[in-house]
Amino acid sequence: MEKEYYIDSLKKSNFKITPQRLCIIDYVMDNTPGHFTADEIFNNVKGKEPTITLATVYNILKALHSAGTIKSFEINGTTWFETNTEFHGNFICANCGKISDVDVDGDSLISSVETTGFEVSEANLLIKGLCRDCRLHPNA
Ligand SMILES: [Zn+2]
Ligand SMILES: [Zn+2]
Repeated sequence: MEKEYYIDSLKKSNFKITPQRLCIIDYVMDNTPGHFTADEIFNNVKGKEPTITLATVYNILKALHSAGTIKSFEINGTTWFETNTEFHGNFICANCGKISDVDVDGDSLISSVETTGFEVSEANLLIKGLCRDCRLHPNA
């Protein structure tokens, strides 16, 4: 996605575009595809923007999330964000903690939910197990 896409979605939520907020957008774009937390962004951006607060990071992530620009999911009380808004599974390795995107047939999953009369607005699929590296080299 272009930077304008993220800037526009913040403007729609009535956020002024400040250097701090642009730094957050840069971090989000640099970590696409990928998964990140508010703490991670805060720790990386505060080197460049020393007056930034964790609350600012949260507010921006919340605005991007409600605009549908990023998705979020929770693992053991930690909220993760990602720019991949297509339906997919997030595979969490129980050994190394790495999160990987896996392709899932989202249409058939969602339509099987909707045949029961429910309407899906957001779907997250968490899959836990061992990643390829940890399976092949269990003691590494
Ligand atoms: Zn692993
Ligand atoms: Zn993902």
